[in-house]
Amino acid sequence: AKAAGRNTLQFFDPQMQAVVSARASLETGLREAIEQQQFQLHYQPQVNAEGRVVGAEALVRWLDPRRGMVSPAEFIPLAESSGLILPLGRWVLETACAQLARWRSMPGLSQLSLSVNVSARQFGEVDFVEQVMTTLMRSGCRAQTLKLEMTESMLATNIEDVTAKMNALKGLGLGFSLDDFGTGYSSLSYLKRLPLEQLKIDQGFVRDILVDPNDAAIAKMVVALADSMGLTVIAEGVETAAQRAALAALGCAHYQGYLFSRPLPAPEFEAWVAQQGV
Ligand code: C2E
Ligand code: CA
Ligand code: CA
Ligand code: CA
Repeated sequence: AKAAGRNTLQFFDPQMQAVVSARASLETGLREAIEQQQFQLHYQPQVNAEGRVVGAEALVRWLDPRRGMVSPAEFIPLAESSGLILPLGRWVLETACAQLARWRSMPGLSQLSLSVNVSARQFGEVDFVEQVMTTLMRSGCRAQTLKLEMTESMLATNIEDVTAKMNALKGLGLGFSLDDFGTGYSSLSYLKRLPLEQLKIDQGFVRDILVDPNDAAIAKMVVALADSMGLTVIAEGVETAAQRAALAALGCAHYQGYLFSRPLPAPEFEAWVAQQGV
């Protein structure tokens, strides 16, 4: 296999080859899934200090006939590197807005805000603002109930373009939440320039908040920062009542996590809200 053979595949070791072909088949599958619309959005409740639902985060699911349910953690990175995130991201936004429009006329759901994850590549599209505008108009949902979740990595490149687009979208009524806050490596100086509404404490700081003083200190810092900048703060990945109590003691008043509910298909989400008696 060392000599230059006709079959160039011989240069890869078998393990490497397996990785490459698994990736290729995942990409082919993803491409087909987009054509055949094998995706679903699930909705995870977001609750306030009183435990009342105030919103939801839309999380995409791939229902592959062969693989079953594929986690977005597995296919979002591939969707990003292959560019498939563009059609997928459009589908997510359209589906989320259509859902918001339906909730608008349903008792107990009309005031809910819906957070949608946006990829850097998607946000970077020249016509992203127009796409959102068109989607809002077509769906008939209220822009005030739509939140886009941004990540710090999106801010690392072309901050001027990102800021301009955020301001234009804010002008339409949308809000922004900074996802996984504290896990990126950008400076804090950009924070004051962005039209943010919310900071989201990453699951990584919530997990060990009771045992790791550093995690507690970071969570505390995020809450204080949000307070002083007039932003709301939400903690993700809240799994236990003790974690919730620790966050509440730090002044964090919004939570999301398995303690309340896993992400649910729309009908189950609606049933969950109804059962909370809102
Ligand atoms: P994320 O935005 O940080 O989403 C939170 C993840 O944590 C979700 O995983 C959610 O199901 C999970 N989670 C929620 N509560 C708990 C909890 O109490 N404990 C634990 N252990 N996990 C919890 P999911 O749905 O697998 O999504 C993974 C990531 O995929 C998301 O992380 C997000 O970065 C990305 N993603 C999901 N949907 C979309 C989408 O529509 N567009 C884009 N661009 N990315 C998406
Ligand atoms: Ca998110
Ligand atoms: Ca997150
Ligand atoms: Ca996270």
